[in-house]
Amino acid sequence: MNTSSDTQSYDLLICGGGLVGASLALMLRPLGLRVALIEAIKFEGAGHPSFDERTTALSNGSRRVFDAIGVWPLLQRTATPIKRIHVSDQGRFGFARLSAQEQGLAALGYVVPNWQMGAALWQRLQEEQIEVLAPARVVQLSTADDTRRVTIEIAGELRECSARLIVAADGAQSLLRQAAGIDSTQQDYRQTAIISNALTQRFHDHVAYERFTPKGPLAVLPLSDARVGLIWTVPTEQAATVLGWSDEQFLSQFQQAFGFRLGRLLKVGARHAYPLSLIRAQQHHAPRVVVMGNAAQMLHPIAGQGLNLGLRDAASLAELLADASREASVFDAGDPQLLAEYAQWRQQDSQRIVTFTDTLVRLFNQQLGVIKFARNAGLLAFDLMPTAKDAMAQLSMGASTRIPRLARGTPL
Ligand SMILES: Cc1cc2nc3c(=O)[nH]c(=O)nc-3n(C[C@H](O)[C@H](O)[C@H](O)COP(=O)(O)OP(=O)(O)OC[C@H]3O[C@@H](n4cnc5c(N)ncnc54)[C@H](O)[C@@H]3O)c2cc1C
Repeated sequence: MNTSSDTQSYDLLICGGGLVGASLALMLRPLGLRVALIEAIKFEGAGHPSFDERTTALSNGSRRVFDAIGVWPLLQRTATPIKRIHVSDQGRFGFARLSAQEQGLAALGYVVPNWQMGAALWQRLQEEQIEVLAPARVVQLSTADDTRRVTIEIAGELRECSARLIVAADGAQSLLRQAAGIDSTQQDYRQTAIISNALTQRFHDHVAYERFTPKGPLAVLPLSDARVGLIWTVPTEQAATVLGWSDEQFLSQFQQAFGFRLGRLLKVGARHAYPLSLIRAQQHHAPRVVVMGNAAQMLHPIAGQGLNLGLRDAASLAELLADASREASVFDAGDPQLLAEYAQWRQQDSQRIVTFTDTLVRLFNQQLGVIKFARNAGLLAFDLMPTAKDAMAQLSMGASTRIPRLARGTPL
């Protein structure tokens, strides 16, 4: 392979142009830093693993972030508001409801197809003339004097780039995280999420359903065109069987688990499978490197928190860089104090969301009668206790102890 001899230098290199990395590049635009985004797979409308057939429940905080970077106006027409959330347990009496109206909100969150988020982000990257290297794969990380250097494979050539700060936004199997010497832990849930979308007899009326079934939790999310997004978490050993069912078999099995709240399920789209693990970076930074999004934490989708947390990672870093670039006489994007502050901020938010999500997975996996009883009582109590509901609503809306300015709707 040829090696290009010139080393390009930047303030900041974002490795990974998925939902989180691409959003960060747009957040940093007003700061006037030398930034490039390196992405292994060019977005060309379809077939990108980050911008696929999934649908994502975005919190109000994430909507504000997307608004700030000019992405929300492109999504607004297809984003479906969630006005109520309905949580239930198959075959039990307890259920809980959350309502946007009770919280004094227009919506608890919004459901958006991932590929549309990809299309909007890539359109904005072009409009803002952000330097994007794609398809380009980071293959190595090394240390130079007061920079870090990455080796990139691009069009059959190896190229070197250096930067004051490297952002690892390269997903759960992050090469950068490993190369920076940041350890990670992985806990296999032995569950696989099967996703699809469906047409229902009755209109969803902007309700998102979460239901716990003996096979695993399922979610039904409201979509535009009166369709719904389905996420069914099944034991991994049953995933191939569920994928192999005919559409009729799938509809009948899903209907049995979900019930008839939306009348009959009429038609189902293609099914896709996502094996689920909790993967966590042990630190959020190393010298001149930060990790964010799935590279920092990959969560179970049960509570719909992964992207919302990843966007807060990005918005937190953007805020710290904006403040530092205003205050410092000599600005260094990889300043150790700045990175330590980023790590502390992200550690707290991540810990809170990981604990919440992991507890939910464990609680609803238990088959023991007494736990079943407790969780039914819990769901009922939850429905009757405004404080618990407010806490849950805050979480589903993306609130955290320290909320980044962009997620509060305040400019950088
Ligand atoms: C079934 C399911 C449902 C979900 N639902 C929700 C939800 O409702 N709400 C929510 O908030 N979250 C949800 N999530 C989580 C959310 O999808 C993820 O948190 C989010 O996609 C993470 O984005 P990312 O950019 O960090 O990582 P990724 O999407 O993995 O992006 C990483 C990018 O880095 C690139 N890359 C990798 N290696 C290299 C390299 N060496 N060089 C260059 N580029 C590289 C990849 O090509 C990729 O584009 C769900 C997840 C699943 C699986």
